[in-house]
Amino acid sequence: MGEAKFATSVSCMDGRIRIPLNKWIKENYSADYVDIITETGVDKNISNVVESLKTKVGISINAHKSDIVVVSGHFDCAANLYLMKNTNLKSKMLLKKFYHGT
Ligand SMILES: [Zn+2]
Repeated sequence: MGEAKFATSVSCMDGRIRIPLNKWIKENYSADYVDIITETGVDKNISNVVESLKTKVGISINAHKSDIVVVSGHFDCAANLYLMKNTNLKSKMLLKKFYHGT
């Protein structure tokens, strides 16, 4: 019997996504356990939290030998709506183009 296989999840703090996301990662990457790293609206906010993420993801990779890192976003993200309302115009246009292609 081999060692347990870990995966790493970088996702929003939203409690609605944790169980289905863990299940999806386990099923799609044959992971026994999922290390969970959360930041609010991480898919839109990743450039602001990248240093913090490097440390946390590094611990997951080095201590648990995780060989897959899943970065996810989700529908109806309150943090992304907040960031969109409180972001400058140039960033807002880039986000809109990225997410909607316009
Ligand atoms: Zn969210």
